[in-house]
Amino acid sequence: MTDCIFCKIVAGEIPAYKIYEDDDILAFLDITQTTKGHTLVIPKTHVRNVLAMTESQAANLFAKIPTIATQLTTKLGASGLNILQNNEEIAGQTVFHAHVHLIPRFSSEDGFK
Ligand code: ADP
Repeated sequence: MTDCIFCKIVAGEIPAYKIYEDDDILAFLDITQTTKGHTLVIPKTHVRNVLAMTESQAANLFAKIPTIATQLTTKLGASGLNILQNNEEIAGQTVFHAHVHLIPRFSSEDGFK
């Protein structure tokens, strides 16, 4: 999709800090680091969100989440992480290329236990 910012990241047309890549999936740091290491995991092929996915597309995307999330948590020394996924504007989606947020959580954070 030509006007999709995440498709442009997949195509290498705009920069991103990549942390994982295979034939189908790309993971890169969110430009807004909600916490250190906040990462987005996306399918390389454009799809609007989970509501538009086939079971096969969903299986490919979500199958990679445990590995990426575990490596992220371990390498950053996080104590846990949140997984967040927004579908459509009413639910907070602002970029309309499906993505999963991985948000590491650290024991040093204030006020969130
Ligand atoms: P929200 O903005 O409410 O988190 P989404 O779930 O659609 O909505 O998340 C889109 C995410 O994409 C945001 O966290 C935003 O910071 C991130 N983002 C937007 N542009 C870029 C970019 N060029 N590189 C990395 N992350 C980006």
